[in-house]
Amino acid sequence: MSDTEITLTAPNGMKISLPTGLFINNQFVKGSSSETLTSIDPSTEEPICSVEVATEADVEKAVQAARAAFNNPAWRDLTPEQRAKLLHKAADLVEQHMEELFTLQALDVGKPYPSSMHGEGPHTVGCLRYYAGWANKLHGQTIPVSKDKFGYTLRQPLGVCGAISPWNFPITNAAWKLGPALATGNCVILKPSEYSPLSPLYLAKLFREAGYPPGVVQVINGHGKSTGEALVAHPGVEKIAFTGSTATGRHILQAAGAQMKKTSIEAGGKSAFLVFADANLEQAAKWAIAGGFGNAGQICSANSRILVQRGVQEQFLEIFERMAKASKIGRPFDAATTQGPQASRMQYDKIMGYIESANRDGAELVLGGGRFEDLGDKGYFIQPTIYKGVTRDMKIFHEEIFGPVLAVTAFDTEDEAVALANDSTYGLAAMVFTENIKVAHRTAARLQSGMVYINESNNVDWKLAFRGSKQSGLGTELGESGLDAYLEDKVIHVNLGLEI
Ligand code: NAD
Repeated sequence: MSDTEITLTAPNGMKISLPTGLFINNQFVKGSSSETLTSIDPSTEEPICSVEVATEADVEKAVQAARAAFNNPAWRDLTPEQRAKLLHKAADLVEQHMEELFTLQALDVGKPYPSSMHGEGPHTVGCLRYYAGWANKLHGQTIPVSKDKFGYTLRQPLGVCGAISPWNFPITNAAWKLGPALATGNCVILKPSEYSPLSPLYLAKLFREAGYPPGVVQVINGHGKSTGEALVAHPGVEKIAFTGSTATGRHILQAAGAQMKKTSIEAGGKSAFLVFADANLEQAAKWAIAGGFGNAGQICSANSRILVQRGVQEQFLEIFERMAKASKIGRPFDAATTQGPQASRMQYDKIMGYIESANRDGAELVLGGGRFEDLGDKGYFIQPTIYKGVTRDMKIFHEEIFGPVLAVTAFDTEDEAVALANDSTYGLAAMVFTENIKVAHRTAARLQSGMVYINESNNVDWKLAFRGSKQSGLGTELGESGLDAYLEDKVIHVNLGLEI
């Protein structure tokens, strides 16, 4: 037990030993200042515990440890099979300790447990195993040039990667970065969000147990403005893999750009969900609920704009409203809960602000529209909320709310649907519901978004790339192309006898 370890008892009765230190060089250590970060339970607004915060000096220590690890033969010289074995071992441990991990996530993010454990848990394990499988399939090309010359490419790791993650999926998002980064031989310094510091610390413990050499995987908690910026600015960090808001993504791009640092950005979204008149409306409504109200609407690719062909709008809304009313808002450890609290006071206030703006702008309230009062005056609970008659000039049509507030707009023609969907600075995902195969594929090709789901929503799979276009991102996570963010091609010229 390290001197930063505490024992937490969760409402589900689980006792968890959690190191609260900075995970540097395979040890949980205290930060160099006395500053700590207090994690708040969003369902009670009570403090859970405090964790150590990394200052610039601590970031320096983590980077030095990672640099040493990158050049340490114990890591550098592993065969691809040995790298795969380590990642499989980490996946095994995540699988064995899902209850602890997802209990911690439910505690500090407020996600319903066990439904998140049964959904995100296997996804996290699957993602790690998928990238373990890639470790020995990374090869370049051989390129004939002339009789006397050929070239070949080596695909090599970048070095030290700073991974900066948001609070809405702290475990899976860490796996999306750790999996490809470690399979390709990099070292990773993970900076989780200040709103979800607990589960990543437990993850660190599991990666150490898996046998990663010191410095290969490190986890440092702290605020974006201090710890995050120090990581981005450090010249010893070759790459920044960022997931978070578009505003922060832009800021990071500028800072990292000053050093030409490799940067991948997964940012915000305002995904359109198109329902054509011939769609299976029951299925469309079910997917819209899952993809719009899932995780209390705190999903980057949430289908937050629902565009419905006018002829079926009322029929669709009737089904949609009935299903949304069946949501069970509750505390994260109540088995019946389908929607927990918003993750933080900041997020709660922001969403309530958007509800006020929708009312001011004249959107027509169909359902919800305020705080969920049944659980008392503590906890960041908001009702599932639906507005119809939402027009392009309204804030809730354009801005990412990141909460359980969905905007419905009617359209008449396919062209109008596509124009409405594309009227966004974001381009993360889009969803098309129709039984007409031609409309489905024609529309999918015209939608300006990194991903299009036909007759489903947000059914993410690690084998398929996750990516945003426009201001939703740069680069890709997941899938085979997710490896590119952690590899650099080197070109070798070979002269077979040409003389000058
Ligand atoms: P955020 O941008 O506020 O913070 C994300 C991370 O960046 C946190 O770890 C934060 O500490 C850090 N950070 C903040 N300022 C920084 C700075 N100046 N320098 C370095 N790091 C800094 O986002 P959030 O509120 O945590 O997450 C919600 C956002 O994330 C939403 O916009 C959502 O759409 C987006 N998101 C995108 C994806 C995706 O894959 N596209 C997935 C999940 C979430």
